[in-house]
Amino acid sequence: MTTTTTTPRPADPTANPPHRVVVVGGGIGGLALAAGLRRNGFDVAVHDRDTDPAATGGYHITLDTAAQRALRGLLDPALFARLLASASAVRRRPPDVWFDWRGRPLGEIQVKGLDPDSVDVDRITLRLLLAEAAGDSLVLGSTCTGVERDPGPGGQARATFADGGTDHGDLLVGADGPHSLVVRHLVGSPTSRPAGLVGISGRTPAAALDPAEAARLGPRSSLTVGPRGTALYSGYLDPDGYAVLDAAHARAAVTTGPTYIWGAMFPEATAPDGLRGQRGGPLAATTVAALRAAGWAEGPLQVLTRTDPATVASYRFHVGPRHARDTAPWPAGSITALGDAVHATPPTAGKGAGTAIVDAHALVTELLSARSGGQTLHTAVSAFETGMRHRGTAVVALSMTTVDRILAGSTPAGSALTRLSLPLLAWSTALRGRAGGHRGR
Ligand SMILES: Cc1cc2nc3c(=O)[nH]c(=O)nc-3n(C[C@H](O)[C@H](O)[C@H](O)COP(=O)(O)OP(=O)(O)OC[C@H]3O[C@@H](n4cnc5c(N)ncnc54)[C@H](O)[C@@H]3O)c2cc1C
Repeated sequence: MTTTTTTPRPADPTANPPHRVVVVGGGIGGLALAAGLRRNGFDVAVHDRDTDPAATGGYHITLDTAAQRALRGLLDPALFARLLASASAVRRRPPDVWFDWRGRPLGEIQVKGLDPDSVDVDRITLRLLLAEAAGDSLVLGSTCTGVERDPGPGGQARATFADGGTDHGDLLVGADGPHSLVVRHLVGSPTSRPAGLVGISGRTPAAALDPAEAARLGPRSSLTVGPRGTALYSGYLDPDGYAVLDAAHARAAVTTGPTYIWGAMFPEATAPDGLRGQRGGPLAATTVAALRAAGWAEGPLQVLTRTDPATVASYRFHVGPRHARDTAPWPAGSITALGDAVHATPPTAGKGAGTAIVDAHALVTELLSARSGGQTLHTAVSAFETGMRHRGTAVVALSMTTVDRILAGSTPAGSALTRLSLPLLAWSTALRGRAGGHRGR
């Protein structure tokens, strides 16, 4: 795909609203932004290096009430209804549980910050629906190689692409994820860093499991914790059985039938060699071997050994700044950024995508109020960035609580504590279950 070259024109930085917005990155946040701008009559282009929005990884994405409210504001009502019809309701399924590495139940997980009205949708479905909403503003196969402001007081923001094309806008927004080129331009260096964990994810139909293992996991999500800082999240997704809306005709989910979308986690320091270079079946096999070496029983490994190899991929968790003062530390202007580009969020709290969507809605809202209230573009961007700093640091802190706990379990002392304490907890959970005090687990 060749990126078209737009002609720069003098911009008036005091003008409102921006005539044209260029978005770099068509992941979750960039597509949500483009959809909202397009729906409100802005001229927008969103560029992504991917050639197919469906060719993306990820397990399920949790959308809390704030993210759903933002999407309702950004999307056409019919498309928003299709999104809800493709999602599974957290409230309708049994609470999340945790297990030890031998598969013994340890009780319900008290998920910090879990909003009971959240819905889960797989990342591919969410991205495809957002791409549909972005429509012809989405330019695929368009890798941004540089951003700049044209010289002079009225210079527009400019993005340059690998094919030599350029795109100009009164506002340029980096929604290009944790390694953001746009943020590197604004700050001079990356503002996110590796969080210390590597994740391997895949999808396994519940029907592929032995009946006993399917019954043990149940129609719920779970976190299994093992020695050496190993962990396995099994997210249960069933857009049919736990539908948010009784609207099968509107369902667009790529996940059909009960499915475990799993993510194994290893501390980077002890992750198996070669993990990052592998995909598919070999990656699943390396992951299983590493968990076996850490002492995992075969039951909890079944979700990996029976997975669809085509779905298995690894990615490194990144984290943004922990303090608001270090988040978006640039003066407001005609180049800004949102989502993981600013506050990279590990998936451990299920909030990264939702927060990127809320950022997108906040920016659209500020640009609309600039348009109606006569404020300048820079005032609108400044108000947006102030809100994003606080939102971003709150979500980074929340997602790092689980990462920090897993990393603490990877030290020799932490690993020894895991080996000693979890069997005791499993024993006491079983005792309470037998006494009828535990809810059947
Ligand atoms: C493969 C993958 C799987 C994930 N799985 C989960 C998950 O299961 N659960 C969860 O909670 N979170 C997951 N996340 C994280 C979650 O999706 C993000 O926190 C959330 O999407 C943030 O949205 P974003 O738009 O800021 O970034 P992203 O959704 O990551 O989008 C960034 C986009 O920018 C594009 N891009 C980057 N550089 C350039 C460039 N130079 N030129 C053009 N385009 C560029 C990328 O192709 C990408 O599409 C995953 C992220 C990825 C990348």
